[in-house]
Amino acid sequence: MEVKYLTEPERKTPVVETDVFVAGAGTAGCVAAIAAARAGAGVVLVERTPVPGGTLTNGGIGISSFYSATKEPEKAKRIVGGIAYELMERLQEAGGATEFIPMPGDQNFSPYRIVADHEIYKAVISKMLMEAGVRVFLSTMFCDVCMEDGADEDSAVRNHRIKAVFIENKDGRSAVVAKQYIDASGDGDIARMAGLEQTELWQRYHEVCGGPNGLVFGMAGIDFERAVVENPTGFFKLGGTTDQGDGIVSRRFAFTHVKDKEKYAAFADLDINFFTSMQSIHEGELTYINNSKGADCNVCDAESLSRAEMESRVMAMEFADAMKKCVPGCENSYISWASTQMGVRASRITMCDKMIAQEEISAAKRFEDEVGLYGFHDLSPKRKECEICEPGFYGMPYRMLLPGGCDNLYMAGRCVTGDIEAHMSTRNTVGCMIMGQGAGVAAALCARADCGSRELPYGRLREELLAQNVILEV
Ligand SMILES: Cc1cc2nc3c(=O)[nH]c(=O)nc-3n(C[C@H](O)[C@H](O)[C@H](O)COP(=O)(O)OP(=O)(O)OC[C@H]3O[C@@H](n4cnc5c(N)ncnc54)[C@H](O)[C@@H]3O)c2cc1C
Repeated sequence: MEVKYLTEPERKTPVVETDVFVAGAGTAGCVAAIAAARAGAGVVLVERTPVPGGTLTNGGIGISSFYSATKEPEKAKRIVGGIAYELMERLQEAGGATEFIPMPGDQNFSPYRIVADHEIYKAVISKMLMEAGVRVFLSTMFCDVCMEDGADEDSAVRNHRIKAVFIENKDGRSAVVAKQYIDASGDGDIARMAGLEQTELWQRYHEVCGGPNGLVFGMAGIDFERAVVENPTGFFKLGGTTDQGDGIVSRRFAFTHVKDKEKYAAFADLDINFFTSMQSIHEGELTYINNSKGADCNVCDAESLSRAEMESRVMAMEFADAMKKCVPGCENSYISWASTQMGVRASRITMCDKMIAQEEISAAKRFEDEVGLYGFHDLSPKRKECEICEPGFYGMPYRMLLPGGCDNLYMAGRCVTGDIEAHMSTRNTVGCMIMGQGAGVAAALCARADCGSRELPYGRLREELLAQNVILEV
């Protein structure tokens, strides 16, 4: 279809000045903003939804993982500190997360798991952003960039600089002029608008985990005793229960395929096999129903994505209805929440100075410019070649945050790593937080020193990361 264009009239746009601008108050973006502010920078953070937290409050509430990968939980070492770990402690203090629950030996990808209450997460992360003094603009869309004049188009390495970004909200349109910019939008929106090199990864998600998107929701009013006892081989296969005695009862369910079509007639027309993961942290509530396949769509196309959002809500309703009709103990159940926006596992990936590869992750590779250590892989132990060898973790290099062709922009979160298998590690919540803290600290230091991202001495970055309790050696 031919695209028609309209030339907008020139206009004057009010300017907000700051040291560091962060697009996206999600998993990585909130940590980046807090880290930059704690390192002394003035920070503006924008988020298109009215809620900070991103996919962590929209589905990714099983926060994976703070420990080295090992089949024996007692041998696991904690390898993640910094803001990510502090966040867990504060969630636990607020009654909004489970303890670190040891997982059975066959789940060597995650020796300890922590599951958060998405509502408490929203409050705790809001408090931390306010305490750090971050200027937060919610219901605000980052929508364009303005590059600095004089960029050398002919140069082989085009290290352009961003001069300003444009945001839109109820106040209208503003320009934010910052010294450094962090793209934590998940989709690499700043990098795309800046014309940097990107590749689409989302199609590959059909090969590794159902699909690239999913709408997570929860159901309450469930009698688990009956659901598990009266239905032991059916829907709920209990993987483990931990009662902390503080109102948090964590139950993990392994999904079992519904074989008895007559008994489960209401599910007959539903493609229910994709509801692969269910977790509960409150009595009577299935807190987390992860529709891992999602509705078919092109996650890089706004209209297609919107349709999938709507189809996913219909699917959740139909699924809940079938649960009520077929599963003992669910007669009085109901949908208690659904994520504000559908979760996306991957869309556009931005090409950065270092694109980490699966072989490096499996080999537990270390780098000379690390911003953190990570030891979780979502394909392990399912795929032997994705296991991380001894000591069960790898380094996340600073260079993986630096997009080719731009000198004052950092990428953080699921928008990096083009190797699909490697992405199944780095994109997970804690990996995104590690990148967020690395980007936040580096951006603050570069803003103070008035230098480009590649001119920052690693020793200075390491010093500040350690001061912020990031673990760089174990
Ligand atoms: C269904 C699902 C289940 C998952 N389960 C788990 C799990 O159990 N454990 C685990 O560790 N990981 C899980 N993950 C993966 C993990 O949660 C995500 O990869 C990670 O949270 C992504 O973090 P991020 O910061 O890159 O993006 P996000 O957390 O998605 O943050 C991006 C933010 O940017 C905002 N934004 C986007 N564009 C703009 C714009 N133009 N202007 C302003 N704001 C913008 C978005 O609204 C969003 O808040 C899951 C992912 C999905 C989709």
